[in-house]
Amino acid sequence: MKLSLIVPCYNEQDNVENFYKTVCSVFADGGFDYEIIFVNDGSKDETYKRLKSIYKNDSEKVRVVNFSRNFGKESAIYAGLKESCGEYVSIIDADLQQNPKYVLQMMDMLDNDEDLDCVAAYQKDRKESKSLVFFKNTFYKLINKMAEVDFVSGASDFRTFRRSVADSLIEMKEYFRFSKGLFSWVGFNTEYIPYEVEERASGTSKWSFWKLFKYAVDGIIAFTTTPLRIATAVGGITAVLSIIYLIVVVIQKLAFSITIPGYATIVVLILLLGGIQLCSLGIIGEYLARVYIQSKDRPIYIAKNVLRPDDKADK
Ligand code: UDP
Ligand code: MG
Repeated sequence: MKLSLIVPCYNEQDNVENFYKTVCSVFADGGFDYEIIFVNDGSKDETYKRLKSIYKNDSEKVRVVNFSRNFGKESAIYAGLKESCGEYVSIIDADLQQNPKYVLQMMDMLDNDEDLDCVAAYQKDRKESKSLVFFKNTFYKLINKMAEVDFVSGASDFRTFRRSVADSLIEMKEYFRFSKGLFSWVGFNTEYIPYEVEERASGTSKWSFWKLFKYAVDGIIAFTTTPLRIATAVGGITAVLSIIYLIVVVIQKLAFSITIPGYATIVVLILLLGGIQLCSLGIIGEYLARVYIQSKDRPIYIAKNVLRPDDKADK
């Protein structure tokens, strides 16, 4: 098998058939063997029904992993990786925003350079609101300052890579998965190509601002412990400032014997110190919560059933 195409699907009932047809027509003249692994991420619409009928018509090329509930795109990618057996593996969205023709370009690059392991696509012109682009850029600046590995701004999950990269990703069994970081962490030679994002064929994006924000926090916590160090530093600076202020107060009291009412000072200090302490506790809590969840060793996803070429039973 030359290529495994991993397609996470969540409520994509109106896109999956179009996607399948587009892939078949784009790859028709390619002359290589490929499989399409659809991962139904607990869709609440008719996605699974449609995927089942695609599978029935083309059980040679199509596989369907059917999750027991919505586990998120990252888990869907992981399931796809585990199911894949191609020499090359590609991750692509089901909404046709990413044209499969770029997969051919990526494969060509891998074919022509044996030292290259991964080709990732980044959006040429982001069709997003200015404020969202601003927040995304700020996130990349922040995480790149803090983390050891590099995060390329705008690089998406849309990429094609060799089996060795896929195997390394499968070995990373962490529960909070942040693909962009995992790709950087495993290393390998990666090249970036620009691609033109198309309009979503049907349906709406599953990413609200709040979901993106939580995803960004997950990314920071998964790849750097700098926030903990910042908490320590803020605590240290506060302690030093407190000592200086303590000396000032003692001198004032002894030398000038001024009785300062000090109401405002006390209120401000209590609030400030309380705030800093709660903030630091929150940061520690975020890390601890992840340790707690990871320590339960729960699976990254649960597949209700899988439709495979060798397994034609109607499930
Ligand atoms: N997706 C998924 N599980 C989720 C959310 C999204 O499998 O919980 C899939 C979705 O079906 C699509 C891809 O991930 O194929 C990208 O999602 P979306 O188009 O909503 O993201 P955007 O393109 O807006 O970044
Ligand atoms: Mg999309």
